Amino acid sequence: SSSSEDDDPKLLFPDLPPLFTGHPDVHLRNGVMKAQQMSADHVPDAERAFFVADLGQIYRQHQRWVKCLPDIQPFYAIKCNPDPYVLRLLAALGAGFDCASNGEINQVLSLGGVDPSRIIFANPCKATSFIRNAGKVGVDLMTFDNMDELYKISRAHPGAKLVVRILADDSKSLCAFNIKFGAALEVVPSLLAKARDLRLDVVGVSFHVGSGCYDPSVYTDAIMRARAVFDMAREVGYELNLLDVGGGFEDSSFERAASFLSEAIDQYFPDRHGIRVIAEPGRFYVSKAFSLAANIIARRVPPTEVASEKPVADHPMVMYYINDGVYGAFNCILFDHQVVHPYVLSLNGSFHVPSSEPLQTSSVWGPTCDSIDCVCPSTQLPGALQVGDWLGFHNMGAYTICAASQFNGFEVSNVIYTTGSVGVSKEVWGALASFAAEGHRL
Ligand code: PLP
Repeated sequence: SSSSEDDDPKLLFPDLPPLFTGHPDVHLRNGVMKAQQMSADHVPDAERAFFVADLGQIYRQHQRWVKCLPDIQPFYAIKCNPDPYVLRLLAALGAGFDCASNGEINQVLSLGGVDPSRIIFANPCKATSFIRNAGKVGVDLMTFDNMDELYKISRAHPGAKLVVRILADDSKSLCAFNIKFGAALEVVPSLLAKARDLRLDVVGVSFHVGSGCYDPSVYTDAIMRARAVFDMAREVGYELNLLDVGGGFEDSSFERAASFLSEAIDQYFPDRHGIRVIAEPGRFYVSKAFSLAANIIARRVPPTEVASEKPVADHPMVMYYINDGVYGAFNCILFDHQVVHPYVLSLNGSFHVPSSEPLQTSSVWGPTCDSIDCVCPSTQLPGALQVGDWLGFHNMGAYTICAASQFNGFEVSNVIYTTGSVGVSKEVWGALASFAAEGHRL
C-alpha cells in the first residue's frame, strides 16, 4: 500500500514517536521553540539537546547507491547508527545488514521481515556463544581471519558460510583497522586449507579499506587482492561466489569510490557470472541525515569583560558549555577522529542572526565535570550569545548516538524524525508503510 504526506503518522505507526514531514531545519527550530516554551514554564530538563533525523536523506543516499553501484547490494553496518527508524527504512528498501554482535543480530531480526539471510555477521573475532546463537537464529554468513575462529565455527556452527577477511590498504582512512583485523595474503592458503580439513564452507572474501576513506583509489588494490584469494581458494577446492567490498564510503567521494570499485571489479572479475557482490556501508548512509541542537547551559566570559574579576592571562576566549559532549553524541571527536563545527541556531533567544554580528574566538565544552570534555577548542561565534541560546551541528549521524554514554548522569539526546523536505517524503512514507502493510512492526 502507499501513503501520502497527509497520512497521520500516529495512525500508521501508533507505537512509535511522531514522524514529521518537512525540512530538518524547520524541526530544529520547532524543537528549540518548544524547549524555550518549556523552559519558560519551568519544565525540568526543558533545554535538553536533541537530534533531528532526516529519513529523506537516508532514502536519497540509497538512491545514490543504487544508481552508482546497481550490482552491489548494501548490507548497512548497523554499528554506525542503529536507530530503529533508519533500520526499518533500510529494511523496507531491501538492504541487508552487517552485524557485529548477538545484540545487533537480535535488533535486526526483531524488526520482523528481515530474513536471516540478509545478515552478515561481519566480525572476524566472535565469542563462541555468539557463533552458536547465530546458527540458532539462521544467520549463516560470517567472516573470519584466523585459525582459532575456524575451530570455534566448526564446533558452534559447522554449517556456516564463511567469508575470509583479508588485509587492505587502510592508510588513506580516518579509522584504520589492519592493526586488529584482516588476514595477510600469505596466510590465506593455510587458513583455507584448515577450513577444508574442518569441512567448512568458505564462500567468499571481504576487506575493509578503513572507515572514512578519503582516497578511494585504494579499492582497486583491495579488489586485486580479493581476486588473488579467489584463485588461491580454487587451488584448495573452493569455488568462491561472494565478494564483500566492506565499508569506508564517504559522502563527498562516493561517486569516485563507486567508479574505482566498478572499474576494478570489471578488470579483476571480467567474467563474474555467479559471483554476488555485497558491501557494508555505514557512514555513507547516516552521516548527513542527523543534526544536533544543543543548548548553552553556561558561559565563562573573558575576565576583562567582568569588572569584578581579575584578568586571567591564559583564558582569552569565551567558553560556552553545552548540554551534550564527548561522553555523549560528541564521542565521535574521540573515537571517530571528527572535528565538529557549531553554527548559531538562536541568538539572544531569537532565530534572527544578523550577518554583521561581531564574532569572538570561543571554545565549546560538554556538560560533564571532565576537562577532556571539549567539543571545540577554538571557533568563531557571535559575542552576543547568551546562556539559553542554541548551537546546531550538522553531520552528526555516524558513530555518535551509538557510542554515547550517560557519564555524570547526562542522558543521551532524543531524536525527532522527519521524512525531509518535499521530494522524497512520499517515497519514505511509502517504503515504511509498505513495510508495515506486510505485517512488520513499525
Ligand atoms: N564493516 C565493518 C566490518 C566495520 O568494522 C565497519 C566500521 O567499523 C563498517 C563495515 C562500516 O564502515 P563505514 O562506516 O566506514 O562504511
